[in-house]
Amino acid sequence: MTRVTRTVIVKSVKLSRKVFHTFIELKGMYRNIVKQLVLYAVSNSVKSFTKLKALKYRDTRNLYPQLPTHYIYTACQDASIRAKSFLRLKKLGLVEREYPEVRKISIWLDDHLWKPNGLTSIKIATHKGWIIVELEPHKHYWRYINRGWRLASEAKIKLDKRNRQLIIYLTFVKEAGEYEPRGYLSVDVNENNVTALVDGVAYLFETNQEKLVLGYHYRRKRIQEKYDRLYGKKSRIKRRIMKKLKERKKKSDIKWKIANIIVRVAHEKQYAIVLEKLGKRVANSMISRIMDRQLRHRIFQASFRAIQRAIEEKAREYGVSVIYVYPKNTSRLCPIHNAPISYSNGSRIGRCSKGNEIWHRDVVACWNLLFKALRADGSNAPSPVGLTPLDVRLIPLASKATHDPIGIPKSLWARQKSLPQTLYDTTLNSNEAVGTNGLGLEPGVHEGWRGNLPARPQRPYPQLHPHGH
Ligand SMILES: [Zn+2]
Repeated sequence: MTRVTRTVIVKSVKLSRKVFHTFIELKGMYRNIVKQLVLYAVSNSVKSFTKLKALKYRDTRNLYPQLPTHYIYTACQDASIRAKSFLRLKKLGLVEREYPEVRKISIWLDDHLWKPNGLTSIKIATHKGWIIVELEPHKHYWRYINRGWRLASEAKIKLDKRNRQLIIYLTFVKEAGEYEPRGYLSVDVNENNVTALVDGVAYLFETNQEKLVLGYHYRRKRIQEKYDRLYGKKSRIKRRIMKKLKERKKKSDIKWKIANIIVRVAHEKQYAIVLEKLGKRVANSMISRIMDRQLRHRIFQASFRAIQRAIEEKAREYGVSVIYVYPKNTSRLCPIHNAPISYSNGSRIGRCSKGNEIWHRDVVACWNLLFKALRADGSNAPSPVGLTPLDVRLIPLASKATHDPIGIPKSLWARQKSLPQTLYDTTLNSNEAVGTNGLGLEPGVHEGWRGNLPARPQRPYPQLHPHGH
């Protein structure tokens, strides 16, 4: 079982002045307690919550007799985390002050300090007794409620003084049972698409990451420069605009949709997902003033990583396990002959130098990832060539499937929750002949698929056809 948690932010309705004032008082006391505890913890090098609580509970309790006692527990937790990270930075010589600043405060609540009160309100314990706070639930909140997530006992609140509302950070929990995988679904992520190999069929999701990511990067930079010039480097207006830009990007973020589709298919088939292990360097992607090509590379790496993370997170939710394999040579070597594939100038279609068969670069990567996973899990004994006869039989060599992935244009998958059903049925379920006639990817398949689309005209098979290049 894996425990998955998600934070959902809900606002309260606008509170009366009197009630809101109580929360302001509460926050004031809570802030003072945290401040004092942090000060104490840092000057005495106390890093553990239990130790801090043991040492300071009684004093603090006596200072704030009217406050529900569990606020002292949660303040101890809050303070010990702040102290711990400050002490760590101090040790590394990265702090300028003697003590950490306690500026931003959210009030931590445990199960003694708040309770759900039906589905649309909560009760919060204060120095003036329990207060019922009505929520403004939104679509996102209902989704968690309706999909069997449980509310965790911890929550946090912040105060929105301008609107007299509480901002409530709820944590939802779900236990997902992991299963023994019955097979593997390998996924290759690159600049312009995400390719998934399901039972010998490669599906290629067009993403145009390149355009998206670089477009965003340059737009961001342009705006930054403009506002720096007009208002100075630290202007509030720039911060606001950048935030808006970021939010817009988040909204249109395609990674969740792809992750959803891939994880759903894996879950339905009870497969594990195979991803390539990316290097550690991907983390700090936004270092500017380096060679442009290098920068580009880093930004892309970061966005690949983001897609992988989305898949991981969704997978945890569904109890699907994720396996990582080293990507070395995954798109350079033929998965059957272990010989180099030569791609002519920039093309994604190449020819095996030994068997002479044609391969699509991303399909190669998926097969190699799959085989690496198979070899690693011990179900197939490793052979000196790297492949077992069973592995090789999996690949429909005689067909187009090695070089002709099923392209799914973004306009299509972006509106779907799983693989387009007709396509999926035709290629996977009704055709058992994996490895013999190559999955029957006859034109009829695509006709059938198109026939089931909404009236909006689709370009047939966009850009992916090797013969078109
Ligand atoms: Zn080959």
